[in-house]
Amino acid sequence: MTSISSVLPDLYHRILPSEVLELRVRESLATCDDCVKVQKGARPQYQAALKCCTFYPILANYLVGAILAEAPGQAQSLIRRQLEQGQFVIPVGLGPAPAYQWRYVNKRPEEFGNNADFLCPYYQRDSGGCTIWQFRSSECRSFFCVSESGVAGEEFWRRFNEMLYFVEINLSQAYLLERGFLPQDFKSQMNLLRRSEFKDGDGTNWFLSQTERQKIWDHWWGREIEFFLGGAEWVRSLTTAEWQREFGREFKPYVEAVRESFRRTTWKGSTTSRPTKPGLPISP
Ligand code: SF4
Ligand code: SF4
Repeated sequence: MTSISSVLPDLYHRILPSEVLELRVRESLATCDDCVKVQKGARPQYQAALKCCTFYPILANYLVGAILAEAPGQAQSLIRRQLEQGQFVIPVGLGPAPAYQWRYVNKRPEEFGNNADFLCPYYQRDSGGCTIWQFRSSECRSFFCVSESGVAGEEFWRRFNEMLYFVEINLSQAYLLERGFLPQDFKSQMNLLRRSEFKDGDGTNWFLSQTERQKIWDHWWGREIEFFLGGAEWVRSLTTAEWQREFGREFKPYVEAVRESFRRTTWKGSTTSRPTKPGLPISP
């Protein structure tokens, strides 16, 4: 069994309540190092070189900062390159270009796990691992293609994802405001990373022009790396009391939903004396 706290970066340890951090789970069926969806003998559902990483996650600004400060050099260089190339690396965070999003929502279901065009930029093909594993997003963090606890386990991870997404979205917005951006900046930037509807030109839009970037970055233009690094520092400096004061009331139902869904899993009542299997995967 693995505690939730041991699979989350310390960025979250002062934000999430102990009743969530201390939950103990085990996912031995999603054998990511020897992916269950591509194993020999079974009918492969995903290509071995892609697994379930045909997905481009949105990374909140403070996670980008944590990657730039602590992740392997390969991930850091990639983000710096994305920034220089005018990819969608903006104050709220980074994510797929509208053209990727347009293609992703229009893909056929069987393309997931099989179409290399959708492969995540942080995926390491030679090792089959994730270069930003420690700081991956809520969606990646809560994804298990199969749960040892069946439908109840899947429901638990869905609730866990919603709770962590609440944290990501609110921290990224709060940091944006802290650094002099406006609430409408947050909305317009999020709409770039997560289109609610598409408009003409989105299907071919892979890069931002320098003028667009300058406008989006505003008073932080030219100091983007400093901005991101500051985001990670800012989150680390948040106290439990500050988080509670700002977000506690809205956050509570998400925490309750996680605890309630956990009670329905087979992990409830499990003890550490049960045989220990691989536990949560250390790579996708
Ligand atoms: S979660 Fe992804 S990498 Fe892990 S076993 Fe399932 S499909 Fe494979
Ligand atoms: S687990 Fe890592 S490599 Fe896979 S989609 Fe998420 S960020 Fe990308």
